[in-house]
Amino acid sequence: MFVDGCFWHGCPEHGVMPRSNSEWWGWKLEMNRERDRDTDQRLRELGWTVLRVWEHESPGLAADRVEQILDALARRPRGARDDR
Ligand SMILES: [Zn+2]
Repeated sequence: MFVDGCFWHGCPEHGVMPRSNSEWWGWKLEMNRERDRDTDQRLRELGWTVLRVWEHESPGLAADRVEQILDALARRPRGARDDR
């Protein structure tokens, strides 16, 4: 599980583009998002379940999401994990 900073990871609600040097920042923040996607992809290929929580999300809601995911994993048919 990752907790992504709203600014650094380009949160749709709070991600803002700095006015000065905006071209560089645009590139920088896009690179961050691309790296996040790449990281997720690699972890999933290794069989991890990736959950990203925004900095602005409440810990309670984040905990609910973790619980939902664990619940869904527990319900998967036996052996599904090895089908890949
Ligand atoms: Zn945010």
